[in-house]
Amino acid sequence: MTNVAALEFAWERAEPIPAERRKVLLASPGFGDTYSDHMVTMRWQAEQGWHDARVTGLAALSLHPATMAFHYGQTVFEGLKAFWRPNGQRALFRPTDHARRFNRSAHRMAMPRLPEESFLAALEAMLRADGNWVPSARGHSFYLRPFMIAAETHLGNRPAEEYLFALIGSPARPASGAEPKPIRLWASTEYIRAAPGGTGAVKCGGNYGGSYIAQQQAAAHDCDQVVWLDARERRYVEEAGGSNLFFVESTTDGPRLRTPPLSGTLLAGVTRDSILRLARWLGYPVSEEPLTLDEWEQGCRDGRMTEAFACGTARAIAPVGHVASAQREWSVGDGTAGPVTSRLLRALLDIQYGQAPDEFGWMRLVDGPGEA
Ligand SMILES: *Cc1c(COP(=O)(O)O)cnc(C)c1O
Repeated sequence: MTNVAALEFAWERAEPIPAERRKVLLASPGFGDTYSDHMVTMRWQAEQGWHDARVTGLAALSLHPATMAFHYGQTVFEGLKAFWRPNGQRALFRPTDHARRFNRSAHRMAMPRLPEESFLAALEAMLRADGNWVPSARGHSFYLRPFMIAAETHLGNRPAEEYLFALIGSPARPASGAEPKPIRLWASTEYIRAAPGGTGAVKCGGNYGGSYIAQQQAAAHDCDQVVWLDARERRYVEEAGGSNLFFVESTTDGPRLRTPPLSGTLLAGVTRDSILRLARWLGYPVSEEPLTLDEWEQGCRDGRMTEAFACGTARAIAPVGHVASAQREWSVGDGTAGPVTSRLLRALLDIQYGQAPDEFGWMRLVDGPGEA
């Protein structure tokens, strides 16, 4: 496990999707429905550590039915974005922070850590292979999905002794455009996402599988996402679907931001952290302070809480327009994106698309293959 920093990738170039077809796909990307030409894989075994690093054509994985990931759910993932630069380079947003979180997830799931340099090397290899899959329009991006699964063939109920890391990429449009569409949230009082001591703070597959029943209820109530409440009291607001939440409060000194603290049941979003820093930099006071659903409703009704938004890699920032639960329903502000939400979204995108100085050193530039 010690020589991993020097991990060399074996390259097998794929027959690419023809450039004409790629251009059509890149003109109107969806989310998670189109994949680029290549993938990166690495394997881990106790004696060898990480080895067998490859860049190959994107292809189906062949796995034995007794592969442990299918049975006991040792799977973790990350999601991050690369952005186009006019000089042929591509810019990854905060990849080291994603590498660290990947390892926190792996640790919680009793899986091996992947050295940060290897995680970064995989991302860079992917962009060297498929950098021409990074769409150039503002708002569009190339979504990178690194993941790790228990790859040992065994039915014993214990941590696996073999793992597979893989990285795939997919061109993506933003869920939030210049005029982001406000979302409606459904506060679930029946189901919870995460409990103290559980896995809520990490990106493991089971967290998502366990959340879809509540997501179905949200959809049945004409809502886009679930608002998760704390497991103990079902009073405190934690997250919105797979995104963190921010609230804008109006004070006599102007707007201030508030977000639930990382209590151990929330996922520490890289976007959340970016918003906290950007907000302070733009002069908004911020606090990481718990908020109950009651307080949120009351604050919206008496005009103290003027805006709210969900944030995460996939959608950047999505304004919250309405909140509903089995008992009640209210709108946030006038139900549209407020000025603080819009300003933060603009500031974040300006850095990601290279239209503002990278004040915080968030962008990691990678040489791509040239023309998009
Ligand atoms: C990934 C994720 C987020 C957002 O994290 P980012 O790093 O900002 O993409 C928030 N909550 C949950 C549950 C998540 O899985």
